[in-house]
Amino acid sequence: MRYKWILFDADNTLFDFTYSQKKALEQCLLDFGYEFNDKIFNIFTRLNNEIWTAYDENKISHEEIKTLRFKRLFDELGKNNADINAFNNKFIEKLIEHSKLIEDTDTYLEKLYGKINMAIITNGMKEVQRPRFEKFPHKSKFEHIFISGEIRKSKPNKEYFEHVHKTTGALEKSNYLVVGDNIIADIYGGKNYGFDTCWYNPNMISDKNRKYADYEIQNIHEMDKILY
Ligand SMILES: [Mg+2]
Repeated sequence: MRYKWILFDADNTLFDFTYSQKKALEQCLLDFGYEFNDKIFNIFTRLNNEIWTAYDENKISHEEIKTLRFKRLFDELGKNNADINAFNNKFIEKLIEHSKLIEDTDTYLEKLYGKINMAIITNGMKEVQRPRFEKFPHKSKFEHIFISGEIRKSKPNKEYFEHVHKTTGALEKSNYLVVGDNIIADIYGGKNYGFDTCWYNPNMISDKNRKYADYEIQNIHEMDKILY
């Protein structure tokens, strides 16, 4: 193996988080008596991405994410009387319920297990991520799960990767490979700290920050050509 540690991002790298969010939003909106359609999901996705980017840039806190994303959604939909806290709690419950792995992840994690050390590096809320990882059938294959909401540091900040590095024994940085779908949080963040990086880019989007990726894959099985 070319590396001693693989640091996997969770959402939209190992888990199909887009699917979970869509199911959760649909069920919550219907439960609260609102309509749901693709247009509304696209609005939510845009707002949610903006809010998480603001979080990655240290402009807002986890607590603010919870209310801001739905406040802005209901503002755009013209529904100003929604109970945002109740909606957010329901949404978290549904995200956990509809957690699902990306196809091919199962077999690849089975294949890697025992051959290389694995950890999860995720920006997320502990009240969402912990329960999801508790029911994750491959949880025991990961030696560490680093959740930004728990350690109070987040990707792409150096302090996050430094925490991960120290906790995993602080080997030479060349022993670490970061795998993730987010070109800033995962790929720029990992590279900026000094780790090698692999961009999981299934939809083959182009991005000016591609230069921070040592490798690019469209399917997790393509990691074979990097690791062996
Ligand atoms: Mg991700």
